[in-house]
Amino acid sequence: MSPFVASFMTGCVEVVCGPMFSGKTEELIRRVRRAQIAKQKIQIFKPALDDRYHETKVVSHSSQSVNAVSVECAIDILKKIYDSTRIVAIDEVQFFDEDIIKVVNKLSRRGVRVILAGLDQDYKGEPFGPIPHLMAIADDVTKVKAVCTSCGAPASKTHRKPSENSDQVLVGEADLYEARCTAHWDFQPKDEDLLAFSVGIDSTDQENLKVQN
Ligand SMILES: [Zn+2]
Repeated sequence: MSPFVASFMTGCVEVVCGPMFSGKTEELIRRVRRAQIAKQKIQIFKPALDDRYHETKVVSHSSQSVNAVSVECAIDILKKIYDSTRIVAIDEVQFFDEDIIKVVNKLSRRGVRVILAGLDQDYKGEPFGPIPHLMAIADDVTKVKAVCTSCGAPASKTHRKPSENSDQVLVGEADLYEARCTAHWDFQPKDEDLLAFSVGIDSTDQENLKVQN
């Protein structure tokens, strides 16, 4: 078997992640387009939950789009894969259940190139759903940045505008979310007491620090 054939048959996992408005979907679409030009058999999926733009398309903020199949759960992807498919692209992968990890592993072992795009963190800065695991098993991880709406610096955080709803998943757009740099992303968990981890500060100093804060 020539080296070319060997590499063609090797599966791999690519993750494109970052905050909202960072161009994750645009990058996914760019990779899909290149594969289409190369006439490689490709299938594109997205979770049914994400119906912001279109039910049967993956659409970026800059209105680029490719046709996609909406699925209710991760296992549904395996049910819809054709034997001839060489590349599988999945958008908004953070919304899938943990089974997506098994699905991705199975596809890459089968020799499929798997391209995943999704949010790496939620608005609280917590790793989002199956993304941390997928980043760990990926052959390649690309972190993309947005632009901070406060200062224009590169932004790696997603800020959720004040809302009654504190659910992790609240599908929305610029009406609900903004990209922020770390300096302008002010989410602080209520119970976070960093002083508890301080070393070398006596109790009097701790009291003073609490007053200053
Ligand atoms: Zn900023």
